[in-house]
Amino acid sequence: MFVGVGASRVRDLFDQAKRNSPCIVFVDEIDAVGRQRGAGLGGSHDEREQTLNQMLVEMDGFDTDTNIIIMAATNRPDILDPALLRPGRFDRRVVLDRPDMKGREAILMVHIKGKPIAPDVDLSIVAKSTPGFVGADLENLVNEAAILAARRNRTNIGQSEFEESIERVIAGPERRSRLISDNEKRIVAYHEAGHAVVMNAIAESDPVQKVSIIARGMAGGYTLALPVEDSTLMPRKKLMAEMTGLLGGRVAEEIVFNDITSGASNDIERVTKLARTMITRLGMSSDLGPMVYGQKEEMIFLGREISEQRDYSEAVAEKIDKEVRELVESAYIRARQILNQYRDRLDAVAKKLLEVETLSRDDFEKIYPPPSPHTTGTPVVVED
Ligand code: ZN
Repeated sequence: MFVGVGASRVRDLFDQAKRNSPCIVFVDEIDAVGRQRGAGLGGSHDEREQTLNQMLVEMDGFDTDTNIIIMAATNRPDILDPALLRPGRFDRRVVLDRPDMKGREAILMVHIKGKPIAPDVDLSIVAKSTPGFVGADLENLVNEAAILAARRNRTNIGQSEFEESIERVIAGPERRSRLISDNEKRIVAYHEAGHAVVMNAIAESDPVQKVSIIARGMAGGYTLALPVEDSTLMPRKKLMAEMTGLLGGRVAEEIVFNDITSGASNDIERVTKLARTMITRLGMSSDLGPMVYGQKEEMIFLGREISEQRDYSEAVAEKIDKEVRELVESAYIRARQILNQYRDRLDAVAKKLLEVETLSRDDFEKIYPPPSPHTTGTPVVVED
């Protein structure tokens, strides 16, 4: 309820808190005033710094019988002034990670309050299909579902509205009006079928939930794979599976049309980034070993990465480039092998896509049953 900065505001705030004790003071976005002092841009004797100093003074002034608890929230604990984190000030940290399935269900319960919900709605299914979603995504999802229900002239929000809005939040709304030629449609169908077939053939991949050639947001078509349950660790095999699945679209175009299109640009960008991360950040290179290459420099006041400083030699740089290329190449070769082996499935999926435009998991698995049980991980959505 106190907005803005200034030492006098802080004094006011703590005066009121003491008068109303016992009470809780909550400071949102503490990094706005609590950034490290005397670093980077903006001079040092500004209002922000005075605010921070006043806060430190006030927090030191508590006696053991002052019944005030101070809590603060930030997305950037790394840039806070060390003085704030000393014992007696903010000395306990609670990390709020992405919610798990139970957490997501509970968050959904909060956001549906006051909204008319159909009796058939099962929020645990919605929670299960939204791994990786944070509170804001879930709020957005509920709002999208309500808008959809209103557009469909329903008096309450049903399960189908919830399920449709999951895809809206991930990939943007459908754009059925976009006209594409039959030839382009065929290319998109094979491209998406390529992703889906490769993902399905690899045991480490997540099960394919949906394949569609209806344009969504900026994407011309999309393939959605969702993990069976939440996980926080990404094994190397799984990362390789993701890279291979991402390349499935480009490889399908190549095999079927003997030509390639610009449609795979996003796939290729992601594959390259993933491979580079594996080599330089995750220590997953056999040759370069478990080391981090390159120091990321961050602009404290902009909170953004601005440059990467090289802390390795020209020879290592060459090695990194070589390993990244090899990683991408091996994924490419594997995707090619899979699609050559399962060419009949690729044709069947593409044909069905041209017929009905969207395949659910069941439709897809009728054409191509998963050869082995899928493992778990984070959701993969491939957009083109
Ligand atoms: Zn693609």
